[in-house]
Amino acid sequence: MEVSMLPLSVFLLITTLIVGDPEVHAPVDGAPPSKIAVVGAGIGGSATAHFLRQHFGPEVQVDVYDKGEVGGRLSTVSVNHNEYETGGSIIHSLNLHMQDFVKQLGLKYRRSVAGKMAVFNGKEVILEETDWYLLDLFRLWWRYGISFIRLQMWVEEIMEKFMRLYKYQAHGYAFSSVEELLNSLGGSGFINMTRRPLSDSLLELGVSQRFIEEVIVPIIRVNYGQNISIPAFIGAVSLAGSQNNLWAVEGGNKLVCSGLLKMANANVLKAEVNTISPVQKEESLQYQLNFTSAAGAASELYDIVVMATPLQGSATSGVQFQGFTPPFEHFPSHYHTTVATIVHGYLNTSFFNFPDPRLFPFANILTTETPDLFFNSVASVCPVNISTGFRRKQPQEAGVYKIFSPQPLDKSQLKTLFRSYYSVQTTEWKSYPRYGSSQDLSPLELRPNLYYLNGIEWAGSAMEMSSVAAKNIALLAYHRWNRQADLVDQKDLMHRIKTEL
Ligand SMILES: Cc1cc2nc3c(=O)[nH]c(=O)nc-3n(C[C@H](O)[C@H](O)[C@H](O)COP(=O)(O)OP(=O)(O)OC[C@H]3O[C@@H](n4cnc5c(N)ncnc54)[C@H](O)[C@@H]3O)c2cc1C
Repeated sequence: MEVSMLPLSVFLLITTLIVGDPEVHAPVDGAPPSKIAVVGAGIGGSATAHFLRQHFGPEVQVDVYDKGEVGGRLSTVSVNHNEYETGGSIIHSLNLHMQDFVKQLGLKYRRSVAGKMAVFNGKEVILEETDWYLLDLFRLWWRYGISFIRLQMWVEEIMEKFMRLYKYQAHGYAFSSVEELLNSLGGSGFINMTRRPLSDSLLELGVSQRFIEEVIVPIIRVNYGQNISIPAFIGAVSLAGSQNNLWAVEGGNKLVCSGLLKMANANVLKAEVNTISPVQKEESLQYQLNFTSAAGAASELYDIVVMATPLQGSATSGVQFQGFTPPFEHFPSHYHTTVATIVHGYLNTSFFNFPDPRLFPFANILTTETPDLFFNSVASVCPVNISTGFRRKQPQEAGVYKIFSPQPLDKSQLKTLFRSYYSVQTTEWKSYPRYGSSQDLSPLELRPNLYYLNGIEWAGSAMEMSSVAAKNIALLAYHRWNRQADLVDQKDLMHRIKTEL
C-alpha cells in the first residue's frame, strides 16, 4: 500500500505513532535490515560500522558517509617527511575497545619516548618533573600534602566503575540514553557528577586549592582547553588521561578508522549528507538521506541511520532533519575551539626563564590559568612512526612542537615562543563540547532506528568514549530491530551478570 493512497489524517497518525514513539521499531516479519547508513567516518562512525557488521552479519549493506577525511578529529600533518598527530593523540591503557581494534587490525603500539613535564605560570616554572620518581613524589607531598593521593584514589574508583561497561557490553546489554548508561555504572553518583563542577567535587574530597590551581587546572587546560568549572565527570575523564600509562598507534591513530571500515566491509562514500527525513512505507519506517558528492546530488533510503558526528551548535554537521513529527529540538550547546599549531623551529627557552637552551630539560609545558598567557600548552612532539634509532630533539636543536591555544597564534606570539622557525601549520578544531558546570546530557536514540553517537560527548569526549558509544549503539540498534527489550536499559546489571555466569 502506498502512503499517498492513505487519507492524510491516517497517514499523519501512523507517522506520528511510528516516528514519535521510540518503542515502535522494525517490521514485525523478523526480516533483517537491508541497508544501514552511518554519517561520519571518525573513530565513532568507523567503530559503529565495525560493530554493526558484527551484530547484523555479512548481508546488510553498511554505507558510511564522510564529507571530509576518514579519521575526522584523528588527523596528522606532515613536517619534513614525517607525520604528526594534530587531533586526538593519546590513549589510556584501560581503553579496551581501542586496544582491541589495534590488536584485531594487526596495528602496533607506538613506542613512547621519555620527556619531562613542567608547569609554567606565565613568569616561571612552578612545578617540574625530575629523573627521580621518589623525589617527585616527595616534592608533591611537600608542596600539596596528600592531595595527589586523594585525587588518584578518586580517579581510580571512577575508572573501576566505568570498566563495568565493558562487561555489560560483552553480555550484550545496551542503553538508550547517556543517563541510563551512567546510572548503570555509578548510580545517581555518576549522573550527579555531570551536574556539578569539578571544583566542588575536588574541594569536597579535601584536595587543596593550591593543588587545584597548579596541577589540576593545567591538566584540564591541555586536555579540554577549559577550566575547572567543567562537570566533575568530564574532569575525571580528563584526569584519567593524564596518567602515565598512555599509548598511541604506530603510523597514526587514524589508521584505526580506515582499518575498521575495511574490516567491516563498509561502503565509504565521500559525500556530505544534507537532509534526513522519515519515509513511511506500509508497516515499515525508513529514512531518506539526501547528500552531495563530487558526482552531484543524490538520495538513498535506509532502514537504520547512525549520526556519528556532532550535531550541536557551532560544530553542526549541517544536516537538516526534515518531516519529523514532532520536529527535532535544537541541539543548542557549542563546541570549544582548540587551535593546534605545529611548529618546526627553535624553542625560545628564555621565555620560560632558561636563557641557555641546553639547560632546558622539559618536553611538555603545561600552564596555569594566567591572564595574558596566549597558549595552553607547548610540547615537543614525536612523529607517528618512531624508528629504533629515534631520539627526541634537544631544545638547542630545531624540533617539532605542538602548541594548543584558544586562538590562532599571530606572528608576534610565534616570535615570543620560538627563536626562529622553518614552518608553521595550524588546525582550528571544533574540538570537544564547551562544557557548562552543569551539563544537560544529549540523547542517543533520536527516533526509532535513528541514533546519535556523539550524544556521549556531553558526558566525556575521547576516542574511547566514541568507541564505547559505537558498541552501545550497534547493540541498541540490533536489539531494537529484533525487539529484544530485555537487553536494553536493564537495572542492577552487576548482580545480573554475576548470576548469569
Ligand atoms: C586537538 C584535539 C586533541 C584531542 N586529544 C585527544 C586525546 O589525546 N585522546 C583522546 O582520546 N581524544 C582526544 N581528542 C578527542 C577525540 O579526538 C574525539 O573525541 C574523537 O576523535 C571523536 O571522534 P568521532 O568519530 O566521534 O567524531 P569526529 O572525529 O568529529 O568524526 C565526525 C565525522 O563526521 C564527518 N561529518 C560531519 N558532518 C557531516 C555530514 N553532513 N556529512 C558527512 N560527513 C559529515 C566529519 O567530516 C568527521 O569526519 C582530541 C580532540 C582534539 C580536537
